Amino acid sequence: MEAVSLLDRPRLAPLRRLRGAIAHNLDHLWAPSHMDDYLDNELSHEQRRRMEHHVDECPQCSQALTALRTLLGGLTGLRRRAPQTLVENVIERLRAEAAREERRP
Ligand SMILES: [Zn+2]
Repeated sequence: MEAVSLLDRPRLAPLRRLRGAIAHNLDHLWAPSHMDDYLDNELSHEQRRRMEHHVDECPQCSQALTALRTLLGGLTGLRRRAPQTLVENVIERLRAEAAREERRP
């Protein structure tokens, strides 16, 4: 006879639902702090699957992930449009400011 898990018994369906709810809540706590790593492809295969499974069933986290993706996309766009001379300009201003400071009596 095949071994049957205690939770596979029909009358324990409420316990299975409870186990599912606990797993969902744990993923709900875990997902937001891993969304940036998810978008940067820095999660393991298993973690990616965990994120995608949770986001598929959680409207809140799905919305948060979409918002974060949009935000990071916007920041990437800003970085691309920044003038290449920006750093040089900042350094030049800092030097000028330091020179003015030195000239003060
Ligand atoms: Zn969630």
